[in-house]
Amino acid sequence: SAFSDLGLAEWAIQTCKELGMRKPTPVQTHCIPKILAGRDVLGIAQTGSGKTAAFALPILNRLAEDPYGVFALVITPTRELAFQLAEQFRALGSCLHLRCSVVVGGMDMITQAKALVSRPHVVVATPGRVKVLLEENPDIPKVFQRTKFLVLDEADRVLDVGFEEELRVIFQCLPKNRQTLLFSATMTGNLQTLLELSANKAYFYEA
Ligand code: AMP
Repeated sequence: SAFSDLGLAEWAIQTCKELGMRKPTPVQTHCIPKILAGRDVLGIAQTGSGKTAAFALPILNRLAEDPYGVFALVITPTRELAFQLAEQFRALGSCLHLRCSVVVGGMDMITQAKALVSRPHVVVATPGRVKVLLEENPDIPKVFQRTKFLVLDEADRVLDVGFEEELRVIFQCLPKNRQTLLFSATMTGNLQTLLELSANKAYFYEA
């Protein structure tokens, strides 16, 4: 299949071409139309499969149609991954004037709180730092109250680290009618439990 078969806007198809993405990978072919259609997705996919673009492209497409407040919260287990994810969002969203903030440990919290209050379109974060900000700064929960997408990237690793408590706090601050996208290298029972917390019946993808 081609990027033009997946329901993406012309600007997104063009951006893929410019970034040297000639053909969608399998995880992209399967997941992009489902995400555009409003489904939750549980995708079992490895790093290198193109999973980041599989969720970033449909999120950016929906964002382009209706930009309002923080649109997507992307949770990932490590700082390094958070910066890589933000970089891909910025590349794929370059023609949208995308505002994307990274919220991770080891960096100044006041700066991060200010960045969040300015309502970036996409927030890429590690669970511990968002939890602290949500609990300690009364302005932060409001920032997320109309979030359209929650992405859990490398969800098995997030769970391995034992971030259940952090996730519980984060989930509580997000609206129930959001879309939830979970991507994981392995399938674990905990993932199913996490998805049950979301409103939609999920589409399940495994290579
Ligand atoms: P990921 O699996 O999301 O970590 O992506 C791995 C790498 O593949 C990233 O550097 C992407 O820029 C690249 N990539 C993603 N989708 C495609 C595609 N359809 N064609 C070529 N490269 C891609």
